[in-house]
Amino acid sequence: MNKEKNNSISSILINWYQQNKRDLPWRETSDPYLIWISEIILQQTRVAQGLNYYLRFVGRFPDVKSLAEADEDEVLTFWQGLGYYSRARNLHFAAKTIVSSFSGCFPRNHDDVVSLKGVGGYTAAAIVSFAYGEPYAVLDGNVYRVLSRLFAVDEPIDTGSGKKIFSQLAQELLDEQNPGIYNQAIMEFGALQCVPSKPDCAVCPLQHSCLALEKGVIGQFPKKRGKTKVQNRYFNYFDVRVGNSTLLKKRIEDDIWKNLYELPLIETSENVLLEEIIQNQVFIEMFPEKKSIKIQGVPVEFKHILSHRIIYAKFYRIDVDTIPLKLLTECRQIQLEELPNYAISRLVSKYFEKNRSKRVH
Ligand code: SF4
Repeated sequence: MNKEKNNSISSILINWYQQNKRDLPWRETSDPYLIWISEIILQQTRVAQGLNYYLRFVGRFPDVKSLAEADEDEVLTFWQGLGYYSRARNLHFAAKTIVSSFSGCFPRNHDDVVSLKGVGGYTAAAIVSFAYGEPYAVLDGNVYRVLSRLFAVDEPIDTGSGKKIFSQLAQELLDEQNPGIYNQAIMEFGALQCVPSKPDCAVCPLQHSCLALEKGVIGQFPKKRGKTKVQNRYFNYFDVRVGNSTLLKKRIEDDIWKNLYELPLIETSENVLLEEIIQNQVFIEMFPEKKSIKIQGVPVEFKHILSHRIIYAKFYRIDVDTIPLKLLTECRQIQLEELPNYAISRLVSKYFEKNRSKRVH
């Protein structure tokens, strides 16, 4: 690659950044802990939504020690609504690792940072370049898009060989004197200027270097090999009430929402009616005394969309006089007012919100 052209692209990006960057709290710091938290939050979340979560999270857990010493349930409540809860569990786990293996000091070395749970190549590059000025190029969705257009890269970004080509390209373009600012500049440029759909190329400072613009094929980049197949899942939840109390159960399997609380659940392989549910062996074990339960026949239904799954959820309210033994041993009986103390999935909280608004109107 042409070194002069690369240098010119890097300095144009840095100039553009200095004039156009958004003021965000994690840009005002070189504390690797705060940068780490912000990067993990922003992995799957837009800046506007992530900002409040970031402020609340670092307000409660201002450093590695406070996070490592916290109870996981509490960490999850600060993540509630953000989704991808494994991020919060990994943060908590990694904070404990930093305390146990690095004497509580955030590691400086790239290989040590990347060894932390939940920290991939991108996040490690962001942390060590922003905090310590180490020359590691970042490669996130925004950077892939900018590079693929600037150099009209035909290789798909979601293949092993594509990733290799892009990471080499990103590293060659990196301004080694100012890696932190350069990395922030190219990410911000992708987020604000070289946006996914209809970028305003007429005002782009890189328009004379952009091969995709020259060829009139911006819409074709970045190229992707294929979409991940979406899986449908069918959740039948039971809101088991005794007076003003309900039952919550912790999800402990290696699956979505691990360690969050939810209502007792039967998952089925397809959409089933109540008549079939009550014949289900798991339901019979949950409620052996069918006569002593009162089921509201019409469930509250939601279609809940996650990145690779669509969950078709039905919520049945079941009133009982006493909690059946199996549920009593597996679940926690709580008063409805206590719900905010538990980290629950967005899906289950939507159900309770709907119920609450029903009562108000
Ligand atoms: S000219 Fe358009 S496509 Fe090319 S880098 Fe600029 S905004 Fe992106």
